[in-house]
Amino acid sequence: SQAEIGLIGLGVMGSNLALNIAEKGNKIAVFNRTVDATRRFYAEAGALKDQIVPCETIEEFVAAIRPPRPIIIMIKAGDPVDQQMEALESHLAKGDIMIDAGNANFRDTMRRFDALKDSGLTFIGMGVSGGEEGARHGPSIMVGGTEESYRRVEKVLTSIAAKYDGVPCVAWLGENGAGHFVKTIHNGIEYADMQMIAEIYGILRDGLKMSAGEIGEVFGAWNKGRLNSYLIEITEKVLKAADPLTANPIVDMILDKAGQKGTGKWSVIEAQNLGIPATGIEAAVAARSISSMKEEREAAEKILGLPSMGEFKVADKAAFIKDLENALLAAKIGAYAQGFAVMAAASKEFNWNLPMPTIAKIWRAGCIIRSQFLDEITTAFAKAPDVANLIVTPAFATMVKETDGALRRVVSAAVLGGLPVPALASALGYFDSYRRGRGTANIIQAQRDFFGAHGFDRIDGADSHHGPWGSGLGA
Ligand code: NDP
Repeated sequence: SQAEIGLIGLGVMGSNLALNIAEKGNKIAVFNRTVDATRRFYAEAGALKDQIVPCETIEEFVAAIRPPRPIIIMIKAGDPVDQQMEALESHLAKGDIMIDAGNANFRDTMRRFDALKDSGLTFIGMGVSGGEEGARHGPSIMVGGTEESYRRVEKVLTSIAAKYDGVPCVAWLGENGAGHFVKTIHNGIEYADMQMIAEIYGILRDGLKMSAGEIGEVFGAWNKGRLNSYLIEITEKVLKAADPLTANPIVDMILDKAGQKGTGKWSVIEAQNLGIPATGIEAAVAARSISSMKEEREAAEKILGLPSMGEFKVADKAAFIKDLENALLAAKIGAYAQGFAVMAAASKEFNWNLPMPTIAKIWRAGCIIRSQFLDEITTAFAKAPDVANLIVTPAFATMVKETDGALRRVVSAAVLGGLPVPALASALGYFDSYRRGRGTANIIQAQRDFFGAHGFDRIDGADSHHGPWGSGLGA
């Protein structure tokens, strides 16, 4: 019998995804640019060999799949995807579906979707999260494309997706770039989550002078509470792991320079394009950039020294650690609220009709930001799908009120102690600006009118839109 689906690209993600597909009882044809990888993959497939058709040429590969053929392309993002699509196109027939499952920029996905429109072929842009483990045993899958093309692959995708209380973490989210956009924002939120954890770690390490193992204990305890999540869980694990070479905690031996591949930056760019603040993600992306300037930072420390406000002081260590837990929760709420607000604006801009409760639902398991917390977001959006901002839903408003005091105390202590907390501070700034009905932009409007005659609206609605600055502009 023919394969139900095909997959191109047997790298880390592709080979794990292929094994997952095969294991769930779906026959799959596989192809890789370098033939050796295909041979190695098949040789190591063990009991799953029966479900796998290894192919060494594109012709053989296409012929092995049942039409209309869904073909997952899981290769290096960018130009390689265009090259692979071009090489594939002439071998396909009407109705066949190319599925880009890599971390594409959604603008590329929109372009590819449109380019295939008149060819009779269809295109799906599919975000896959969960890393290697997720791909192998159950990722979270965010699909964009025509609904009809999704129905062709729904069964396979449902079988391989992660399950949260039995509910598969896969959904069709909208046309063209919707899936890759949502995956991008997922990654942006992931950047913010990771940065906020790193800042809290910094306070424990450099403020409270705790060892990696001790900090690991703190994260372990938090993972049993409201912060319960995959990222907190692995933070405990990495803090407790020893370096095989030196027997020191491994985190103490790792260089403090963070890499990035682009999805965080894209989130920030799109948020800015849409005019929606995503300050938590911005702070996180900027923090990774500063981290990479290791030599510059070391030179600057020699010239400027560390901030000299004196010792990091806390009166009650246990109470302060409780504050850190609540501060992290508050800041996390800010980052997620921003990410969802960006998606809501994009949904309008690109006519996607993104289903917010469903997005939160398919992030509850499989993906890197999976957590208990996303179940609470699912419930909040299910009750109020069109709410302006997550933080004004009743459940999250309560949570913000319960935790923002702790965030304020933690940010204050860190700032006075000279410890950098750009993401935590950004969340506090966001809450404090967003909840204040009368802000300070009146002065900005006055300045803009003064130097550029831009005009302003008045609080009393009177019909006088320029200030008395002289030169005939006044009321
Ligand atoms: P790998 O580096 O492990 O594999 C890269 C694959 O791309 C190989 O199969 C390689 O083939 C193929 N490839 C590279 N260039 C070309 C080309 N020009 N034409 C055809 N094939 C090409 O990458 P990953 O599996 O880690 O990542 C794949 C995609 O998944 C990326 O878009 C990545 O961003 C995304 N992703 C990765 C995650 C992860 O945790 N690693 C998580 C989620 C998404 P060959 O063997 O011939 O070199």
